[in-house]
Amino acid sequence: MNLHEYQAKQLFARFGIPVSSGEVADSPKAARSAAATLGGDLWVVKAQVHAGGRGKAGGVKLAKTLDEVEAATVGMLGQRLITKQTGAEGLPINQVFIELGSDIERELYLSIVVDRAAERITFMASQAGGMDIEEVAAETPEQIFTVAINPGAGLQPYQVRKMGFGLGLTPDQLKQFGKMCSNLCRLFIECDLSLLEINPLIVNDKGDLLALDGKINIEDNALFRQPDLV
Ligand code: ADP
Ligand code: MG
Repeated sequence: MNLHEYQAKQLFARFGIPVSSGEVADSPKAARSAAATLGGDLWVVKAQVHAGGRGKAGGVKLAKTLDEVEAATVGMLGQRLITKQTGAEGLPINQVFIELGSDIERELYLSIVVDRAAERITFMASQAGGMDIEEVAAETPEQIFTVAINPGAGLQPYQVRKMGFGLGLTPDQLKQFGKMCSNLCRLFIECDLSLLEINPLIVNDKGDLLALDGKINIEDNALFRQPDLV
């Protein structure tokens, strides 16, 4: 079962993983009042569909005024968004997520999958975030750092350091990253996920890590014990 970005970010927040403030909306008026409630002077209007590649397909729009928030929402709701991941018929946009805009210093990649061959939950991290990770994996696989978690021992500090150094993090960011990774691990296991992806994981202008996108798949065979998520 897939979650929408805004739902994934609700889970992130519940597990202590830093995200921006945001609100989901299903009408231009609701989008406008969501932005007004959030405050600030830069918002991002994000189409909520079960597919990535939205940015390149016009499904992620920056807005500098409440009028622009409303106009971007009018342009999305009721349309079908066609991205690299949707096929030609696209997916209907029924909701948008209004989020505070971030000043981005770096875009990193972080994901957790179940490596069935190794029978391990496995982290993947790369400095090449914000792009098509499939291309990075195919053309420059050395840019992806992989760490497999021993189910008995759990995530180890040396594994966090391996990924953190690979990501080129500062000592302070490495501390944030360690906390984030153990919270992500807890989320992954407690919620029976089969995939969790943060692309991009950003470093913002204050030097802090923030999950700017969120993709979550829940293992279908475990849905019976995740009634809240269902
Ligand atoms: P997708 O992966 O479907 O294209 P993302 O959520 O990753 O959608 O957004 C695409 C890009 O838009 C990001 O890589 C980032 O550069 C930008 N972006 C997304 N959310 C924000 C935000 N809150 N503030 C600033 N830029 C954003
Ligand atoms: Mg993304």
